[in-house]
Amino acid sequence: MPFTIDTELCARCGSCIGNCPNRAIMRREDKVVITDMCYDCGVCMRYCPVGAIGMGPVKAELDSKKLSESLKEKFGITRDIAAMKFVDKKPDDVPVEEGPQFWCAICGDIFEGQGSPLLFTAAASMCGGCANMSLGGKRVTREEFDAAVEASVVGEGNLYASREPMTKNRDVFARFPHIYSGMIIGAFDKISRPDLVLFPATPEQLTVVSTAFAFETGEVITGFAGKSTCLMTIPATLVNNRPVFTAADHGGREFMRLKPEELLICFPFSLIPGLVKNLDKTIYAHHDE
Ligand code: SF4
Ligand code: SF4
Repeated sequence: MPFTIDTELCARCGSCIGNCPNRAIMRREDKVVITDMCYDCGVCMRYCPVGAIGMGPVKAELDSKKLSESLKEKFGITRDIAAMKFVDKKPDDVPVEEGPQFWCAICGDIFEGQGSPLLFTAAASMCGGCANMSLGGKRVTREEFDAAVEASVVGEGNLYASREPMTKNRDVFARFPHIYSGMIIGAFDKISRPDLVLFPATPEQLTVVSTAFAFETGEVITGFAGKSTCLMTIPATLVNNRPVFTAADHGGREFMRLKPEELLICFPFSLIPGLVKNLDKTIYAHHDE
C-alpha cells in the first residue's frame, strides 16, 4: 500500500477521506484505511490534523510502459492504448502535428499501433471539438462556421434536425475551464504520467474494468451516448477525476475505426494503478482457479 495511516494516531475525523482526489481512503469497521487506489500524490497528508498519514513500504506503480502492458494483458485488450497529457509548452522531443487533423483520427491511428507521441493543438484541428478538450477552438468566421454546420451537421441526412437539438443538453457535460496550449497524444507506453488514458473495449471488457474499479471504490462508471466523442469523454473525466465510457458519435466511431462491438473507455491516469492492481483481487482473476 503506497500511503498508510497509523491507526494509533488516527482520530477518525474523516478529513482525509473527503480530500483524497482518488477516493482511495475508506472507513472500514472502526478504522480509516488507505486502499490500493492510492497513487502516492500525498494530498491527504496536508489534511490530517494529527499527522497520522505517512509513506507506506510499497510505491504505487506509475510507469506507463508497465501499466500499459498490465492493462492489455489483464483486461485482454488487443488494441494499443492512447494517452493524453495537457501542456502549455512544447517539449523538445515531441513533433507538432501540423494538421489539418481530427483528434479522434489520431486516436484511431494510436489504437492501430501508430502511437508516436505528437503535440496536437487547436490550430491543427479540423474540428470544433477542441473546445471540449481544453485546447480552445480554431477561430473561423461566422460564415465559415455556418457553412460547415449546414453542410454536415444539421438538416436531413446529417446529425441533427436543426441547431436547437445540436446545442441542447451541452450543459449536462462538465466543461474543463482551463485552456491549454496543446495536448501530447500518443501510445500510453510512450507518455510518462499522462492526464488521461483512452481505449476501445467490448462490453465484456467494460464489465471487467468496472468490476475492478468498483472493488474498493464502490463506484460506477458513467456512460454517455449521443453527442461528440471528445465531449463525452474528456471534460467529464478531467473535471471529476472519474472514468467514463461512451458509444461515441458517428464521426468519432468512423475516425477511431471502432469495431461494431467496441465501446470507448476513458480513465484519469491517476486511477489506472489502482485499477490494474485491483483486478487481481476480483472474481475475474479467480474464477478459473
Ligand atoms: S491518492 Fe493521494 S490523497 Fe489519496 S490516499 Fe493516496 S496519497 Fe493520499
Ligand atoms: S485526516 Fe488523519 S486523523 Fe483524520 S481520519 Fe484521516 S488519518 Fe485519521
